[in-house]
Amino acid sequence: MQIIRDDKAGTLTLVPMTPDEIEKVGQMAKALKFGEKIVYGGIRTNHEDKLECIYFFAASKNRWKTTKHPSGGSSTEMVHIGGIKLELIGTSEEDQHGVERISDFCYYGSGGLILLNTIKVNNKTGLVLTGSLCKICQHPMTKLVECEWGICDKDASKCKHNYARGAIHGGGLEIGVGHCCKKCGRVKPMTGQEKKMSVADHHLAVEKELGVTILYKYMPGVTPSDLALMQDNN
Ligand SMILES: [Zn+2]
Ligand SMILES: [Zn+2]
Repeated sequence: MQIIRDDKAGTLTLVPMTPDEIEKVGQMAKALKFGEKIVYGGIRTNHEDKLECIYFFAASKNRWKTTKHPSGGSSTEMVHIGGIKLELIGTSEEDQHGVERISDFCYYGSGGLILLNTIKVNNKTGLVLTGSLCKICQHPMTKLVECEWGICDKDASKCKHNYARGAIHGGGLEIGVGHCCKKCGRVKPMTGQEKKMSVADHHLAVEKELGVTILYKYMPGVTPSDLALMQDNN
Protein backbone atom coordinates (compact mmCIF):
# COMPACT_ATOMS: atom_id res chain seq x y z
CA MET A 1 0.00 0.00 0.00
CA GLN A 2 1.20 3.46 -0.82
CA ILE A 3 0.55 5.88 2.05
CA ILE A 4 0.30 9.58 1.26
CA ARG A 5 0.52 11.74 4.36
CA ASP A 6 -0.82 15.26 4.56
CA ASP A 7 0.05 16.49 8.04
CA LYS A 8 -1.56 19.89 7.51
CA ALA A 9 -4.90 18.40 6.45
CA GLY A 10 -4.53 15.64 9.05
CA THR A 11 -5.16 12.93 6.46
CA LEU A 12 -3.62 9.71 5.24
CA THR A 13 -4.47 8.43 1.79
CA LEU A 14 -4.12 4.71 1.14
CA VAL A 15 -3.47 3.84 -2.50
CA PRO A 16 -3.60 0.10 -3.22
CA MET A 17 -0.69 -1.41 -5.19
CA THR A 18 -1.24 -5.19 -5.26
CA PRO A 19 -4.28 -6.95 -6.82
CA ASP A 20 -5.39 -8.06 -3.33
CA GLU A 21 -5.11 -4.49 -1.99
CA ILE A 22 -7.02 -3.12 -4.97
CA GLU A 23 -9.82 -5.60 -4.29
CA LYS A 24 -9.98 -4.97 -0.51
CA VAL A 25 -9.81 -1.18 -0.79
CA GLY A 26 -12.50 -1.27 -3.50
CA GLN A 27 -14.75 -3.36 -1.21
CA MET A 28 -14.17 -0.97 1.70
CA ALA A 29 -14.93 2.07 -0.43
CA LYS A 30 -18.24 0.45 -1.36
CA ALA A 31 -19.17 -0.84 2.12
CA LEU A 32 -18.35 2.27 4.16
CA LYS A 33 -20.06 5.61 4.34
CA PHE A 34 -18.00 8.78 4.84
CA GLY A 35 -17.44 9.29 8.57
CA GLU A 36 -17.53 5.56 9.29
CA LYS A 37 -14.65 3.81 11.05
CA ILE A 38 -12.22 1.14 9.89
CA VAL A 39 -11.46 -0.65 13.16
CA TYR A 40 -7.87 -1.28 14.32
CA GLY A 41 -7.54 -5.03 14.82
CA GLY A 42 -3.99 -5.45 16.17
CA ILE A 43 -0.64 -6.00 14.49
CA ARG A 44 1.63 -8.77 13.26
CA THR A 45 5.35 -8.62 14.12
CA ASN A 46 8.27 -10.71 12.87
CA HIS A 47 10.78 -12.70 14.98
CA GLU A 48 12.67 -9.45 15.71
CA ASP A 49 9.46 -7.85 17.00
CA LYS A 50 9.43 -5.48 14.04
CA LEU A 51 6.02 -4.42 12.78
CA GLU A 52 4.97 -6.30 9.64
CA CYS A 53 1.37 -5.30 9.22
CA ILE A 54 -1.69 -3.81 10.91
CA TYR A 55 -5.02 -5.54 10.64
CA PHE A 56 -8.07 -3.42 9.95
CA PHE A 57 -11.68 -4.42 9.76
CA ALA A 58 -14.56 -2.70 8.08
CA ALA A 59 -18.24 -3.41 8.51
CA SER A 60 -17.71 -6.42 10.83
CA LYS A 61 -18.37 -7.57 14.40
CA ASN A 62 -15.07 -7.98 16.32
CA ARG A 63 -13.39 -9.66 19.33
CA TRP A 64 -9.66 -10.07 20.36
CA LYS A 65 -7.38 -13.15 20.17
CA THR A 66 -3.58 -13.52 20.86
CA THR A 67 -1.49 -16.33 19.32
CA LYS A 68 2.10 -17.15 20.42
CA HIS A 69 4.31 -18.46 17.61
CA PRO A 70 6.64 -21.46 18.28
CA SER A 71 9.47 -19.51 16.58
CA GLY A 72 9.07 -16.61 19.04
CA GLY A 73 7.05 -13.45 18.53
CA SER A 74 3.32 -13.28 18.75
CA SER A 75 0.37 -11.79 17.03
CA THR A 76 -2.62 -10.14 18.60
CA GLU A 77 -5.46 -10.14 16.22
CA MET A 78 -9.06 -9.16 16.25
CA VAL A 79 -11.32 -11.99 15.22
CA HIS A 80 -13.98 -10.60 13.00
CA ILE A 81 -17.35 -11.89 11.98
CA GLY A 82 -18.35 -10.81 8.52
CA GLY A 83 -17.09 -7.62 6.90
CA ILE A 84 -13.76 -6.91 5.20
CA LYS A 85 -10.26 -7.57 6.61
CA LEU A 86 -7.31 -5.52 5.38
CA GLU A 87 -3.63 -6.28 6.12
CA LEU A 88 -1.94 -2.90 5.90
CA ILE A 89 1.66 -3.28 4.67
CA GLY A 90 3.68 -0.38 3.25
CA THR A 91 4.99 -0.87 -0.30
CA SER A 92 8.19 1.14 0.17
CA GLU A 93 10.26 1.66 3.31
CA GLU A 94 8.76 5.16 3.58
CA ASP A 95 5.25 3.70 3.33
CA GLN A 96 6.12 1.21 6.07
CA HIS A 97 7.19 4.13 8.33
CA GLY A 98 3.69 5.47 7.71
CA VAL A 99 2.28 2.11 8.81
CA GLU A 100 4.29 2.30 12.07
CA ARG A 101 2.91 5.76 12.74
CA ILE A 102 -0.65 4.62 12.07
CA SER A 103 -0.10 1.71 14.46
CA ASP A 104 0.99 4.12 17.24
CA PHE A 105 -1.92 6.52 17.04
CA CYS A 106 -4.47 3.75 16.53
CA TYR A 107 -3.17 1.82 19.54
CA TYR A 108 -2.83 4.78 21.91
CA GLY A 109 -5.61 6.95 20.71
CA SER A 110 -7.99 6.50 17.90
CA GLY A 111 -8.65 2.74 17.75
CA GLY A 112 -8.99 2.94 13.99
CA LEU A 113 -9.26 5.17 10.96
CA ILE A 114 -12.19 7.28 9.82
CA LEU A 115 -13.09 7.39 6.14
CA LEU A 116 -13.26 11.01 4.96
CA ASN A 117 -13.34 10.54 1.21
CA THR A 118 -12.34 8.33 -1.69
CA ILE A 119 -9.99 9.41 -4.45
CA LYS A 120 -8.87 8.17 -7.87
CA VAL A 121 -5.09 7.76 -8.20
CA ASN A 122 -3.75 6.24 -11.46
CA ASN A 123 -7.21 4.85 -12.17
CA LYS A 124 -7.33 3.08 -8.79
CA THR A 125 -9.63 3.88 -5.88
CA GLY A 126 -7.82 5.15 -2.80
CA LEU A 127 -9.15 5.90 0.70
CA VAL A 128 -8.68 9.29 2.34
CA LEU A 129 -8.59 8.59 6.07
CA THR A 130 -7.85 10.24 9.40
CA GLY A 131 -7.17 9.01 12.95
CA SER A 132 -9.84 10.99 14.72
CA LEU A 133 -11.53 14.38 14.74
CA CYS A 134 -10.66 17.12 17.24
CA LYS A 135 -13.36 17.28 19.93
CA ILE A 136 -13.20 21.08 19.86
CA CYS A 137 -12.97 22.04 16.16
CA GLN A 138 -13.54 18.68 14.37
CA HIS A 139 -10.27 19.00 12.42
CA PRO A 140 -8.85 15.63 11.25
CA MET A 141 -5.81 14.46 13.26
CA THR A 142 -3.07 11.88 12.62
CA LYS A 143 -0.51 12.64 15.34
CA LEU A 144 -0.17 10.38 18.36
CA VAL A 145 -0.59 13.09 21.02
CA GLU A 146 -3.51 14.62 19.13
CA CYS A 147 -5.35 11.31 18.80
CA GLU A 148 -4.49 10.23 22.36
CA TRP A 149 -6.09 13.36 23.85
CA GLY A 150 -8.63 14.14 21.12
CA ILE A 151 -7.38 17.73 20.80
CA CYS A 152 -5.59 19.14 17.74
CA ASP A 153 -2.29 21.02 18.05
CA LYS A 154 -3.99 24.34 17.22
CA ASP A 155 -6.51 24.01 20.05
CA ALA A 156 -3.82 22.64 22.39
CA SER A 157 -1.84 25.84 21.77
CA LYS A 158 -4.85 27.82 23.05
CA CYS A 159 -5.31 25.58 26.13
CA LYS A 160 -4.96 27.19 29.57
CA HIS A 161 -2.72 24.31 30.65
CA ASN A 162 -3.22 22.65 34.00
CA TYR A 163 0.08 20.79 34.51
CA ALA A 164 0.46 17.78 36.78
CA ARG A 165 3.55 15.68 37.40
CA GLY A 166 3.49 12.20 35.92
CA ALA A 167 4.76 9.96 33.14
CA ILE A 168 5.44 11.57 29.78
CA HIS A 169 6.16 10.04 26.37
CA GLY A 170 8.26 11.47 23.60
CA GLY A 171 10.74 14.34 23.59
CA GLY A 172 13.49 11.83 22.82
CA LEU A 173 12.47 9.65 25.77
CA GLU A 174 10.52 6.45 25.59
CA ILE A 175 9.19 7.38 29.00
CA GLY A 176 10.17 10.04 31.52
CA VAL A 177 8.75 12.04 34.41
CA GLY A 178 7.66 15.55 33.66
CA HIS A 179 4.74 17.94 33.75
CA CYS A 180 1.89 17.18 31.46
CA CYS A 181 -1.38 19.10 30.98
CA LYS A 182 -4.41 17.28 32.41
CA LYS A 183 -6.68 18.79 29.73
CA CYS A 184 -4.72 18.54 26.46
CA GLY A 185 -1.94 16.10 27.36
CA ARG A 186 0.82 18.38 26.08
CA VAL A 187 4.13 18.22 27.92
CA LYS A 188 5.42 21.32 29.71
CA PRO A 189 8.68 22.39 28.06
CA MET A 190 11.61 20.92 29.98
CA THR A 191 13.69 23.22 32.17
CA GLY A 192 17.41 23.65 31.45
CA GLN A 193 18.14 21.28 34.33
CA GLU A 194 15.79 18.58 32.99
CA LYS A 195 17.25 18.91 29.48
CA LYS A 196 20.71 18.19 30.89
CA MET A 197 19.50 14.90 32.39
CA SER A 198 20.44 11.77 30.42
CA VAL A 199 17.80 9.32 29.25
CA ALA A 200 18.98 6.97 32.02
CA ASP A 201 18.43 9.74 34.62
CA HIS A 202 14.90 10.27 33.33
CA HIS A 203 14.23 6.54 33.54
CA LEU A 204 15.66 6.46 37.09
CA ALA A 205 13.23 9.24 37.99
CA VAL A 206 10.36 7.15 36.60
CA GLU A 207 11.41 4.18 38.76
CA LYS A 208 11.78 6.32 41.90
CA GLU A 209 8.68 8.45 41.55
CA LEU A 210 6.23 6.14 39.87
CA GLY A 211 7.46 2.77 41.14
CA VAL A 212 7.60 1.41 37.59
CA THR A 213 10.47 -0.87 36.58
CA ILE A 214 11.92 -0.08 33.19
CA LEU A 215 13.40 -2.90 31.12
CA TYR A 216 15.35 -2.41 27.93
CA LYS A 217 14.35 -4.64 25.06
CA TYR A 218 17.86 -4.86 23.60
CA MET A 219 19.70 -5.05 26.93
CA PRO A 220 18.10 -7.86 28.92
CA GLY A 221 18.61 -7.62 32.67
CA VAL A 222 19.91 -4.03 32.52
CA THR A 223 18.09 -1.47 34.68
CA PRO A 224 18.29 2.33 34.49
CA SER A 225 20.63 2.29 37.56
CA ASP A 226 23.04 0.00 35.65
CA LEU A 227 22.80 2.28 32.62
CA ALA A 228 23.50 5.40 34.72
CA LEU A 229 26.56 3.67 36.22
CA MET A 230 27.84 2.70 32.75
CA GLN A 231 27.47 6.30 31.60
CA ASP A 232 29.26 7.63 34.71
CA ASN A 233 32.17 5.27 34.02
CA ASN A 234 32.57 6.52 30.45
ZN1 LIG B 1 -9.11 21.46 17.16
ZN1 LIG C 1 -3.35 21.99 28.01
